Amino acid sequence: MVQGIANWSTEQSREWLQSYVDDWVSFYRKHTGEGSVAEYIPQLATADPDALGITIIGRNGIKVSSGDVDLPFTIQSISKVISFIVACMDRGVSYMLDRVDVEPTGEAFNSIMHLEMKQVRKPLNPFVNAGAITVTSTLEGKTSDEKMESIFALLEKLLGYRPALNIDVYESERDSSMRNRAIGYYLLETGFLESDMNTTLETYFKQCSIEITVQDLARIGLILANDGEDVETNEEIIPRPIARITKALMLTCGMYDASGKFATYVGIPAKSGVSGGIIGAVPPRVREEVLPFMEGCGIGVYGPALDDNGNSVSGIRLLRHIASQWDLSIF
Ligand code: GLN
Repeated sequence: MVQGIANWSTEQSREWLQSYVDDWVSFYRKHTGEGSVAEYIPQLATADPDALGITIIGRNGIKVSSGDVDLPFTIQSISKVISFIVACMDRGVSYMLDRVDVEPTGEAFNSIMHLEMKQVRKPLNPFVNAGAITVTSTLEGKTSDEKMESIFALLEKLLGYRPALNIDVYESERDSSMRNRAIGYYLLETGFLESDMNTTLETYFKQCSIEITVQDLARIGLILANDGEDVETNEEIIPRPIARITKALMLTCGMYDASGKFATYVGIPAKSGVSGGIIGAVPPRVREEVLPFMEGCGIGVYGPALDDNGNSVSGIRLLRHIASQWDLSIF
C-alpha cells in the first residue's frame, strides 16, 4: 500500500498520483491480450482490444486521468444504472421495486433461466437484461425517442452536456438482438412490460448505444459517491435514497456473475458494460492513515478486451490494484 502523507492535494502529491496511475495503466495494458472484445454485437468487435484508460475524480477536486481517456465508447449495460435512477425518480422507489427485485442472479446478464426455472415473481434485479428491459418499459413516453428524453435529461444534468447516440452501434445491436427479443417476448407473455414490446426494446438498444468517455463515467460515479449531489454546486441531482439503493445494487449485482468476487477483492460499488466500460463510486472512508481519495471519488475505466464474465479484463485488474494500493474498498 502507498504510504500515507498528510495532504494529497499539494502539487507534488498530485504529480505522484499521476505517475503511479500512468505506471499502472501501462503495466495492465499488457494484460489486454488475455481477454477479447465482445463480438455478439458486430459493431463492438471493431474496438481496439489494447485500449485502456482511467479517470478518477475526488470529492476534493483532484483528478487523475491516464491512458485512452478521450476515446468515446458506448455505455451499454452501464445505462441500466441511469434508466433505473430515472424510473425511480419518475415513478417512485416502491413502484419500481414492486416490478424488479434487488437480488443477484449468479447467472449471465442476458440469461432468462432464472425467470422460468426459479419461477420468480419478477426479474431478479434491474442490472440484468430482463430487469433492465422491464425498467425501460416504465419510462415515460409513447415512442422510443420520447422515452429516451428522460434518460438524456438526467445525463445532461450529470455531465453538463447532452451525449449522443452511436448510430452504428445502435443499428448493429438492433439487428443482432435475438436474445434480447427472446427476453422481451418472455416479459410480454408474463405481463411485466408496461409499454409496447418493440418500443421498449428500441429504447433499450438506444440507451445502450449512448456514447460517453471514462471522464463522463468518473463524473457520474462521483455524484453517486456524493449521495446524488453535485460536488461543486451541492445541487441534488439524484435523491439520496435512490443513490443509496443504486450503490447497493452496483455492489451486489453490478459486475454480472462476478459481482461477489469484485465486492470481495475490490470492494467498490461498480457497474460494467460489454463495451469494456466500468463505473465506480467510492464513498468517503474512515482510515487511520491519510490515503489518496479518502473523502471519496468517482472512477471511470475503459478496456474493451473482456474476460469470460463480460468484464474488462485489464480494467478489473487495474481497479483491483488501485483499490488495494489506496485502500478504496468500502469494507
Ligand atoms: N446492449 C447489451 C445487451 O443487452 C448490453 C449488455 C452488457 O453491457 N452487458 O446485450
